[in-house]
Amino acid sequence: MKARIASMPKAVTDNPAATTPIQMVSVANLPTRFGNFRAVAFTADARGDEHIAIVHGHVRDEKDVPMRIHSECLTGDVLGSLRCDCRDQLIHALETLGQMERGVLLYLRQEGRGIGLTNKIRAYALQDNGHDTVEANHMLGFGDDERDYNVAGEMVRALGIKSVQLMTNNPRKLIGMKEQGITVSGRLPVVMPVNRFNANYLMTKQKRSGHMLSLREPDVAAVLQAHEVATKNTDTQERDRGSKALPLKPRFELGGTTGATAASA
Ligand SMILES: [Zn+2]
Repeated sequence: MKARIASMPKAVTDNPAATTPIQMVSVANLPTRFGNFRAVAFTADARGDEHIAIVHGHVRDEKDVPMRIHSECLTGDVLGSLRCDCRDQLIHALETLGQMERGVLLYLRQEGRGIGLTNKIRAYALQDNGHDTVEANHMLGFGDDERDYNVAGEMVRALGIKSVQLMTNNPRKLIGMKEQGITVSGRLPVVMPVNRFNANYLMTKQKRSGHMLSLREPDVAAVLQAHEVATKNTDTQERDRGSKALPLKPRFELGGTTGATAASA
């Protein structure tokens, strides 16, 4: 068994020769707030990651099965981070699939588009210093998307699905699944609301990664402009208050040079 080096990006530790198809291990009912699903567990992949499929309705031997391929995002899915639209997409997918006759969500443990949790936070630090998401990943030595769809392809085959309709805006997912020999019979668009935190992220996805989001520059600019006006007003109020008041508590900062450290590492 190959040892996993935690500090190395997954892409580097990849060894295609070590890849063995994953297999279904167990199925259990999973009632959720989005409907009744079945959780399907698989053997760990060659990297040791465990993935699950959340299945609604009957899918074996079915064609045109609606499918969402979701990559794990701890900060978004669990903590509700507004830096990305992962949680919104996850909830939208489960709500939609839960209301359909059948559908599958593959939950892949490829955190941070495959670069891992720690590196994702390092990339965020770079973004805090003004780099966009693609630049930040490049500065850390990654492509802007390190996900691979080999495992997703194996899961679809193990579930016995004939063809899928992918819920995605990402052309790379469509291509990735076709490259795995999966018949993609259609695409179901996923459009999430823009907020001031994710506006630049979504625009970068559209402009630099080719995501089909139908975002218009003026709309995104309007969201950011509205925030700027709100911030300016708050700043003025703070300054007026702050000119007389002394701070009651010392301010702690977690190293303002985080981004620079990440960049030079
Ligand atoms: Zn996310």
